[in-house]
Amino acid sequence: MTISLNWDLESIFTGGSQSSALADFLGQVIVDLDEFQPHLDPLTSQNQPEWVTRVQKLYDLSARLHQASAFVGCLVSHNVKDDRAIQLDAQIDQLSAQLRTHWTKMSALFAEQDEAAWNDLVTNTDLKLTAFNLNEERDLARQKMPPELEALAAELSADGYHGWNRLHNTVSGDKQVTLSKEELSLGQLQNRYEDDPDREIRREAYELYEASWTELEKTCATALNNQAGFRLTLYKNRGWDSVLKEPLMNNRISRDTLDAMWSTIDSKNGKLLDYFTAKAKLLGIDQLHWYDVFAPISQVAKTFTYQEAGDFVIEVMERFNPDIAQFCRMAIDKEWVESENRPGKRAGGFCTSFPLIGETRIFMTYNGSYNGMLTLAHELGHSYHDWVMRDLPYGARHYTMSVAETASTFNELVVNDASLRATNDSKEQLSLLGAKLNNAAIMLMNIKTRFDFETAFFERRAKQQLSVDELNELMVTVQKAAFKNSLANYHPHFWASKLHFYITDAPFYNFPYTFGYLFSNGVYAQALSEGPAFVDRYIAMLRDTGSMDTETLAQTHLGVDLTKPEFWETALDRVLGDVDKFIALV
Ligand SMILES: [Zn+2]
Repeated sequence: MTISLNWDLESIFTGGSQSSALADFLGQVIVDLDEFQPHLDPLTSQNQPEWVTRVQKLYDLSARLHQASAFVGCLVSHNVKDDRAIQLDAQIDQLSAQLRTHWTKMSALFAEQDEAAWNDLVTNTDLKLTAFNLNEERDLARQKMPPELEALAAELSADGYHGWNRLHNTVSGDKQVTLSKEELSLGQLQNRYEDDPDREIRREAYELYEASWTELEKTCATALNNQAGFRLTLYKNRGWDSVLKEPLMNNRISRDTLDAMWSTIDSKNGKLLDYFTAKAKLLGIDQLHWYDVFAPISQVAKTFTYQEAGDFVIEVMERFNPDIAQFCRMAIDKEWVESENRPGKRAGGFCTSFPLIGETRIFMTYNGSYNGMLTLAHELGHSYHDWVMRDLPYGARHYTMSVAETASTFNELVVNDASLRATNDSKEQLSLLGAKLNNAAIMLMNIKTRFDFETAFFERRAKQQLSVDELNELMVTVQKAAFKNSLANYHPHFWASKLHFYITDAPFYNFPYTFGYLFSNGVYAQALSEGPAFVDRYIAMLRDTGSMDTETLAQTHLGVDLTKPEFWETALDRVLGDVDKFIALV
């Protein structure tokens, strides 16, 4: 049987962006959103059923809008020129804002209710499986300003806060540079300095990259200082004393866990310096520069057809967890994956879910490389995560970024190890191990740089704005500390170039990457030591990602305490064990 390279969207709504089924569906969502009443009388045992219905209606609207948004997201991605889909996407954004307003009002209402009546509502009714999420909404509302002030802040933030992010996107997106007579965007230039196998091109690209951001530094500094000021003022008015409060809540993890993770990393990541030394030797230099850290070790020319990649992923999963293998087979056979390599598609890869039908779709452009196969395995991991949660109520299915990469990274680790075992060619082994260790350097050093920078920046910004020179200086200081003075040069304008510092929707968009990476490695370590017996626990853990904080999740399903160093040590030992293997091969 030949495998389709295109996904099936027709079975969700027939007719793409011109679909009349989709138009009817959205029409009904609009009517129901307009009719929804975010008001109720104070909760009592008499009107409890009415409360249950109203909350369920809100979840139902959320799920339907999610479904429509996922569908339109797929349309825009597989044909970036589909103007009708782009219009629909903007319309759904507006409907989502309307839905958020309903949620804000309802959450404020949750906060006002009597404790006993509320507990009865979330423990003894059809809402009980969504109790965690509802309590979370209620707690958050209690910690915010009164609803009318929050509404005003939200309205002002569109221009006064998120506007700074758009400014950064605009100036960085508009910038074009010329490298060896080739016109490049800053994103393309970054790829050159990080990934090009030719060191001379990397060096040239890097120098041009620093120089380009130097030209944009004043605008970037203004955007960064002002968006930080907005956030600090908002937090002050909510009575929040730490800039980490919001990102920690968003990720359902505690400060103790975060501290335990970073301090264990700090005590162990020095091992990567041995990798850097060995890599420098391979590159024929004394010391790595910033632009050498992520450079590939060697090019592996081996390619796989999409069918071969899928078969390989399924085969290696089979030995590990037949349930995942079966799922991957089904997802590929049912045409849930868009993999075709053709123009007109957006870049990157993602997995998106359709909550009303319990299905997902994967988007990627498969190019036949080993990385392409890893992406397929990665996205199938996301897809599997959603699959095991498909029968839960919508309100119990939302998980945070800290655990969102668990199943995806897990699949990558399995494929990585299997690929290493599958080859006797030491060049290929070096290349595979090098790719893994480059990733470790990102997670354990580069992202540490970002976290330390933001922490120090916000502390100083609370007193006054920082000048360009101060930002550059601070950045180099945290880079030297995170990389333990091991590099020959650093990237002072990293604060300007790294778009994550400007993402206003998700403050501190850095530590969840490292957390998810190590968490998944810890899970993988347990899976390796327990064998097939781990399968059921793995599924149970994934299912609970929507209804537990991360510490409880780890304690319940892995029997580990994330606030203590042991778990992190085990995960780090797994990751850093590759350094010795790499050195032995060199
Ligand atoms: Zn992912």
